[in-house]
Amino acid sequence: MADILIVEDEPSINELMKRTLTMTGHRCCQAYTGREALRAAKQERPDIVLLDINLPDMDGFQVMAQIGTIPVIYVTARDEVTDRVRGLNSGAEDYIVKPFAMEELVARVQVVLRRFHREEKIFVIDDVRVDVERHRVTRAGEDVELTNREFELLRVLLVNRNIALSRTQLLDLAWGMDFFGDDRTVDVHIQRIRKKLGLENYIRTVFKYGYRLEI
Ligand code: CA
Repeated sequence: MADILIVEDEPSINELMKRTLTMTGHRCCQAYTGREALRAAKQERPDIVLLDINLPDMDGFQVMAQIGTIPVIYVTARDEVTDRVRGLNSGAEDYIVKPFAMEELVARVQVVLRRFHREEKIFVIDDVRVDVERHRVTRAGEDVELTNREFELLRVLLVNRNIALSRTQLLDLAWGMDFFGDDRTVDVHIQRIRKKLGLENYIRTVFKYGYRLEI
């Protein structure tokens, strides 16, 4: 879990981002102007700032310049190459262009957290404990052997918990674009994970779409 400051003047987008990141286990605080952002950054000391560029009182680049050493991901509707370059040159960790998919937001936040060694390493669901760093899974204290594929799939479900992921997204996120497989492959692996870990009530099937891990 990380503390995330969301800076976005459009309330509906700000709220949606908060909801998504809260669902996936993060703690969020919200700012709607540059000044609010700077105040919140100082008071809350977040792990990451998600920073809109077009703000009513100042622009994101000005905020970034005053924000100190906190990692920043720009989230903006501007998709011109010059802005992208300017954003990254100003020291931002990443740049997300609106509109974006929620799992993309979650994934990019996760990458930055990993870069700063702030990502979650241990997950607990019921009597199952997953140690991501050590690649170790136990159920009621006993080791459970998962294949690499099963482990990666489980990791993706955990990081994106409470978000429905399509089978295609699961394929891509867990095993990469190059992996040769289809929807059926995902189903088979999900069945195995559910059975090995007794997670039938947690890994939910989303009708005609995919799966969601509910914690
Ligand atoms: Ca804006």
